Formats: sequence, structure tokens, C-alpha cells
Amino acid sequence: MEAKPKPLTWLLELDPYVGGESTIEGVSRIIKLASNESAFGISPKAREALAAMADDFFRYPDGGCTELRARLAAKHNLPAENLVCGGGSDDLISLLMRCYAGPGDEVLVSAHGFAMFPIYGKGVGATVVTAPENDITVDVDALLARVTHRTRIVCVANPNNPTGTYIPVSEVTRLHAALPSNVLLLLDSAYAEYIDAANWTDGAELVAKYDNVIMLRTFSKIYGLGGMRVGWLYGPDHVVDVINRLKSPFTVSTAAQVAAVAALDDDAFVTMSQDHNKRWRRWTSETLRQFGLTVPESACNFVLVRFPGTNGHDANAADAFLKTRGIIVRKMAGYGLPDALRITIGTEEEMRLVVDTLGTFMGAH
Ligand SMILES: *Cc1c(COP(=O)(O)O)cnc(C)c1O
Repeated sequence: MEAKPKPLTWLLELDPYVGGESTIEGVSRIIKLASNESAFGISPKAREALAAMADDFFRYPDGGCTELRARLAAKHNLPAENLVCGGGSDDLISLLMRCYAGPGDEVLVSAHGFAMFPIYGKGVGATVVTAPENDITVDVDALLARVTHRTRIVCVANPNNPTGTYIPVSEVTRLHAALPSNVLLLLDSAYAEYIDAANWTDGAELVAKYDNVIMLRTFSKIYGLGGMRVGWLYGPDHVVDVINRLKSPFTVSTAAQVAAVAALDDDAFVTMSQDHNKRWRRWTSETLRQFGLTVPESACNFVLVRFPGTNGHDANAADAFLKTRGIIVRKMAGYGLPDALRITIGTEEEMRLVVDTLGTFMGAH
């Protein structure tokens, strides 16, 4: 028999990412609350800028994302030369793994952390080490207990997807202080725009101060540009230098750059989204709790809903029931939470419908 080309052996152990569903057979009107997308669609300013740019899309994009980085730097008061834009923050997570970890190395993650960390960690042949959580919240001591001389990157999404919980700045600082200086701390602040806790940090001041911290941000959530693929990181000089060596030059398309620059200026859209999210996240959480469901306090644009599992009230049955009404949410078994569903905060109408449907499911009315 002829030999076939052989992939890297560890890739065959890797389970591909499974995104949120978007269709239900036989249902024409779908309510999709499965991927933490913006409740209000794309930023209107971004939509306008895109339409005006269409004639320029035959040109290659600016590989350095010069204008976008300058705007981000001005808005966040950061040095533009320490920012790197990527095709979504996923692209940047993948780059970081490729730059800093390989076979024989360890990547440390939290039990119910973001799915892309283990996927890209395993993808480069590293061993992914998982630390348990405390009350579905990142447990700094559990992470630190698993740091070895092989640890290269510690990944923390804060606040975290899919749990919605966060650790305060004191815990982030304590984690960083106890890490060896050659271990990278990746702070993924994808939900930065939704959290308003005074004791939280996006990590920027740690990046400014230390050589081993990276902050990650995205345009996929509050800016409503998930389909455009733009994320960015803020890192120390030496990390940015290495990433820029490996980075594909054109992963952030011209359209994505134009949309992101325009969205960044759309303060009215961001403020409206923040106010809406806060209000409906609270209403959704409180009402679902009245039905006997467990809903951890969320700092994001989604809630994690845990089912008791008694009298047929489990997550799978709830998911199937929601689907019969055209509502798609996210099942959580892949995140080690088979008792839970994750529900994105959508419009008022969508939230009233999903909550009412779960009330019926739980026999609350
Ligand atoms: C949604 C999300 C992202 C964003 O990923 P993109 O590739 O920028 O769309 C990053 N990190 C976390 C934790 C997320 O939930």
C-alpha cells in the first residue's frame, strides 16, 4: 500500500471547534442567542463606512493596520507600536501559541475557560494542563499549583466565556506575581466593554509594567463585527516583535479595518449596547432564578443557566424545548458543563421570549 502524507500526530487528538448552530430544520423564524453576538447587529457607523469603501476592495489591505492601531492607541491611551491586529482574537491566540509553545511544553488553562485556548495549545503539540475552578470561577491557587518548569503560557479569559464570571484585579495581580518571569500570562479581555465592576482590570497596566503579560481584545462582541474578524493585542516590545515575524500580513481585510475604525468611533452604539445589556442581563438572571434555575452573576453579554436535572429539567431537554420554539442557545457539555446552557443577551423581545419559554419548560406558569 502506498503511504499517505502524514499529519503531525497530535493533530489527530484535536477536537475541532464547534460553533453555535444557526438553523433548525423546518423552522423559518430563528432566534439565535448562541454565539454572544451583538443584540443590535453591526454598528451603524461601520455599516456606512463599509458601503462607502466597496470600490477599494480590489487593493490588498494595509498589513500593518496602521490607522486602526493609531485609533486604538489614542482611544485606550496605549503605544501604537505595542499593538498587533489579527483576524479575530482567535488568530492572535493561535499566533501566540505558535510563537511560545510546542511539543514538550505546557499551556495552562482553567477548567471552564475559553475553548480556543486548548484547541490552539494542542494544535502546536503542547500539553494542555487544566486547573479546576472554584464555584465556576478561575481559581488562582489551582492554576499556580499546576505551574511547572514546562509551563509556557497561562491563559485566562476575564471575564470568562462561558461562565460569565471574573476575578478581581487583586487576583490577577496575585497570579502574575507568583508566575515565573519566563511564563506568559495571556489575559483575554473580550468582554471588557460589558463589565463595569470597579475592582476589574483589562490587564493593560500589567502589560505596561511587565515583560510577560499580554492583553487581548476583540471587535466581535460589543462592536457587532463578529463576521468581519478583527481582534487586537497589547504586548511588550519583544513579544510584538516575534508575533510580527510569524503573522500573516493580510488576515485583517480592508473591509475589517475600515469597519473597525468606524465602529471604534460609534460611542452612541456602544453606550446603548452597554445599557441594554446591563438591564436585560439582570432581568434575565433574576427571572430565571425565580424558576429554580441557577444563574451565576455574569459580567458579559450572556448568562450561563444551570438546570437542576430533576423531573426531566435538564439542559438537553431545555435545549430541545427551546428549539421547538425556534430559539437556538448554546449547549455546554463541551465546556465540562453538561447541566448548563449559555444564552446570549439579545433584544428585549428575544429575552422575553426565551425567558417565557424556559418558564413554561420549568412548569413555572
Ligand atoms: C468571543 C470571544 C473572543 C473573540 O474571538 P474573535 O476571534 O475575536 O471573534 C475571544 N475570547 C473570548 C473569551 C471570547 O468569548
